[in-house]
Amino acid sequence: MIPLHEAQETVLAGCAPLTPQQVTYTEMAGRVLDQDVVAFEDVPPFRNTAVDGYAVRAIDAEQVPVELVVVDTLAAGAEPKIAMNAGEAIRIMTGAPLPNGADAVVMVEDTERVGESHVRILRSAKIHDGVRDAGSDVRAGETVFVRGTVLNAAGIGVLASVNARTVRAFPRARVALLSTGDELVVDGSPLRIGQIRESNLTMLHSMIAATGCEVINLGVIRDDEEELEHVLREVTERCDAIVTSGGVSMGDFDVVKAVLSKIATMQWMQMAIKPAKPFAFGQLQSSDDRTIPIFGLPGNPVSSLISYELLARPALRKMMGHTENLMRPAIRAVLNSPLKRKQDGKIHFMRVFGEFAEDGRLHVRDSGPQGSHQLASTAMANGLAYVPDGNGLLAGDEVSVYLLG
Ligand code: AMP
Ligand code: MG
Repeated sequence: MIPLHEAQETVLAGCAPLTPQQVTYTEMAGRVLDQDVVAFEDVPPFRNTAVDGYAVRAIDAEQVPVELVVVDTLAAGAEPKIAMNAGEAIRIMTGAPLPNGADAVVMVEDTERVGESHVRILRSAKIHDGVRDAGSDVRAGETVFVRGTVLNAAGIGVLASVNARTVRAFPRARVALLSTGDELVVDGSPLRIGQIRESNLTMLHSMIAATGCEVINLGVIRDDEEELEHVLREVTERCDAIVTSGGVSMGDFDVVKAVLSKIATMQWMQMAIKPAKPFAFGQLQSSDDRTIPIFGLPGNPVSSLISYELLARPALRKMMGHTENLMRPAIRAVLNSPLKRKQDGKIHFMRVFGEFAEDGRLHVRDSGPQGSHQLASTAMANGLAYVPDGNGLLAGDEVSVYLLG
């Protein structure tokens, strides 16, 4: 058995970041920038009003109430035609440029219209009230994002506001996914003895998509070496990574093992963790000579999920340009129930459900039975507790928990 961290290092070392590309706004979400972004324009581009109201000279609105002559109306998008003089006001809408002569805006709620031509100001104004300066969000020449930034929704909005219409960013990894096993039924038909319903494909599809990758779902491949080899070779030209489920342990019909040993450079690992001891990692050359990492996950559903989380997901994030938070964040939590285990030289990852309590700390309890085929209790979990080798932990003990999405 090898320690988990050694397996993680091997996997990360074998996965290089993909070649960056130019992307447009609709493709940017969640991508990692491969460039600094410098703003060439001020945001906002001109001094404007933050409120609907009346542009005034603050000096005219110091003593209130006071009546001013309304000399113009400015909508957002309108260009001011006249400057303001003493004793005057201009009706103005949020976002409209501040007219020359004005140095404050009184919001409409603090005014009263007096006939067509006058407005009564009810609250005294100070210089700059209700005014947004040019460049008060972003200044021309400013570096708004550095290389390595992960673009979130607000970030994409900022890029639009500075007119960065395309940026160079890391692509989404195209991940081919397949499951193996003659016992697996996918079409909803009644189960014969020995058959079970396929669940890993469905589960992993959503996990890979949630990682930010494109999924190429190849479905269930029979335990047939020739067919599996054909499918794997064919998919290399249109994918960046391959995730397989099942067939990587010590069984007689572990076809993934047989085929990958032949066509790829593989490492068959027995990791010192439970569940998810067997794991395979390797590389396959594509027909266009790219190196395609292969993640061979075990078939037991919980093992599949946990090895995806601990090994495949961080590596796929690295391929997509992430350098930080490759792993889920871990937090020190308080145990509300014991986590029993036996000494076996392995780290146990136990599924837990946690909630923040009034003491400001995360309190967790096991989410149900912990067998590697027991996916239902995993569905109830929102964390993976790291239980070191030994006899387990007691209620009240501290435990490290990886927070699942
Ligand atoms: P394997 O890793 O192929 O030896 O499979 C280990 C266990 O996981 C066996 O009980 C399989 O029936 C089960 N299994 C394998 N693949 C899947 C799958 N895609 N969905 C549900 N169970 C699976
Ligand atoms: Mg199998």
